[in-house]
Parts: sequence; structure tokens; C-alpha cells
Amino acid sequence: MKNLPHQPLTSFEDAVGNTPLIRLSRLSELTGCEILGKAEFLNPGGSVKDRAALWMIREHERAGRLGPGGTVVEGTAGNTGIGIAHVCNARGYHCVIYMPDNQSPEKVQLLRTLGAEVRTVPAVPYRDEMNYQKQAGRYADSVPGAVWANQFDNTANRLAHYESTGPEIWSQTEGRVDAFVAATGTGGTLAGVSRYLKEKNRSVQIVLADPMGSALYSWVTTGSAEMSKGPSITEGIGNSRVTDNLAGTEIDDAVQVADQDMVNMVYQELLIEGWFFGSSTGINLCAAVALAKKMGPGHRIVTVLCDTGHKYQSRLFNPDYLAEKGLTPWQSQRPLKTGSRFSTKAFAASR
Ligand code: PMP
Repeated sequence: MKNLPHQPLTSFEDAVGNTPLIRLSRLSELTGCEILGKAEFLNPGGSVKDRAALWMIREHERAGRLGPGGTVVEGTAGNTGIGIAHVCNARGYHCVIYMPDNQSPEKVQLLRTLGAEVRTVPAVPYRDEMNYQKQAGRYADSVPGAVWANQFDNTANRLAHYESTGPEIWSQTEGRVDAFVAATGTGGTLAGVSRYLKEKNRSVQIVLADPMGSALYSWVTTGSAEMSKGPSITEGIGNSRVTDNLAGTEIDDAVQVADQDMVNMVYQELLIEGWFFGSSTGINLCAAVALAKKMGPGHRIVTVLCDTGHKYQSRLFNPDYLAEKGLTPWQSQRPLKTGSRFSTKAFAASR
């Protein structure tokens, strides 16, 4: 029997956080390390960003900027908007989301279903004044009673992970954690968790996982934020700049992950283990395995299972889309010779 709480949760907010840690059995066996994933896909809005959404809205309320009938505006590739839309419904706010037009159609549809007003705008770099984040900020300034959540530079995002995710990981591992590895979009998760874990034990290794087409790998490894060769089909992670949330974070190392490795990982976890993860989780798991190989057997590595694959059916789980991007779904490129393709033994034998 699972250890279930005795008191019922009484609101959407109550259900945010306190997610389980999941031992990724196949990856742990493969590496001799214990690879644990924080099951953020079990948050009520379906992703790690529910925490940031809640903390940012509470901070705007506490500061007196947001009150009854108010509006929360955000520039988001999806998950933060989904979290904000839920919290806005629960607290009686309007929700307006600016989103670049290169995101999965499922996310736009879902946000509209949740009651958000979605404005898709051309995907242009951050330095462009028409960038979705800047448009969100300007719109919030122009509407009385509206606030800009500003997930990239509002450090209430990082605080969410310093006050919740970090302490949960520390307590769930009973302080036995050798490394934490995660890809970053805003940087909130990595920055908040790392601050908490480093306070508890300075020797916990903090490692940034980066997709191609992002500048953060080079920022960590060389000190200068230079974009790597892209693009990547991952969504919600990678960045061309160091946000206020990420700035000042103690990061020990970085791992860069190619899209095909991420695709293989996500399909293998689905077809062999039954987990249905999104692309950023695939990057995190590839990075966790790379880190395990570097650290050697016997270490305990924690990462984040950011969201599920449901929002990515038209892309990551669409063979035609993958083919357009020069990528191959795992089962067709590596058929297993013996036994069931669902058997871990057969998988190990095929390698
Ligand atoms: N994975 C997914 C699916 C996301 O949407 C995000 C946030 N954009 C992240 C990972 C990264 O989280 P953070 O913003 O805290 O760096």
C-alpha cells in the first residue's frame, strides 16, 4: 500500500507539489547508479510549472498588485500558462497568454479549453521588441488591474523550488543525494533546488542539462553564453540568455544532449517501462545517464520528470514530424532481435 495522506486536499493549490520520487529502474540498472525522477507530471496542472505559477501569483497578491477581478498576463511556451490558467480559475482572475507560434497546437488548444485568452505571436528572438515575453509585459502594463507573471525574471519562480521542490527532494532522499541534474527554461527549477541542496550539503553536484540550439551549456562550461548549433524539437527548455532566476546559481557542470538521444530515451521509457514522458524529461534522463557514467556506479542522481507526452503527440510522437526534422522513432531504427520488445533483458541484449 502507498503511504497516502489522511486528510483530503481541499483545493487545486493544495494539490501542487509533494510529488513522489520515482526510481527509473532500467536506467538505474544500466548505470549502477540510483536514478530518481521527481514526478512533476503528477502536479494537478500536469507539469513542474504549477509550482512557479502558484508562487508568482501569490507574490503579486502579497505585494498588493493583484486583487479580485484582476488579470494575470504571461509570455509562455505552454506549461507555465497552463499552471497560471488553473490558478486563475481557482482564484477568480482573467488569464492572458502570449505564446510563440512555433509551439505544439495541443498546448494552444488546452490553454483555450482552460479558459485562457491565447495570443500567438511570431517566434522572434528575445532581443526583438515583438518577442512574446516583451509583448506580454507591455500588455500587462497597459491594462488596469493586470500583472505580468514574468516567469523568466521574477524570482518568485526560483523561490517556489527553493521552498518546495528542494526540501521535498532532501527529505525524500533522507539527505542522501549525490547530484541533481535538470534542463532549464527559466532556470527556476535548477536555481531553486540547487540553492536548497547546496545549503544542506555543499558537495551535492548540480548539473545543467541542455538541448542543442541553447546558450546555457557554453555559459556553464566557458562562462560565455554562446548559442550551440540547433535547432531542437524540445519545448520549454534551453535559452539564449541567463535569466534573473538562473543568475548567481552555483552549477558544477553541464551536459549537452542531442535530439535523437532524447527521442530514443523517451520511446524506450514508453515502450519498455510504460512511462509517457515529454521531451524535456527525455533530455533530463539522457543527462542523468551521462552523469552516472561520469560519476561511476553507486551514486544517487535526482532529476525531474517535467511533464507527460500528451501535449506532444503531434510532434515528438508523430513519425512524420520526426522525419521532417531528420529524427527517427526508436523502435523502427533499433528492432530487437529476441524475445518481446518490451523486455528489459531483450533490450540489454540488443545493445
Ligand atoms: N520542462 C518543461 C516541459 C517546461 O515547460 C519547462 C518550463 N518552461 C521546463 C522543463 C524548465 O523549467 P524551468 O522553467 O524551471 O527552468
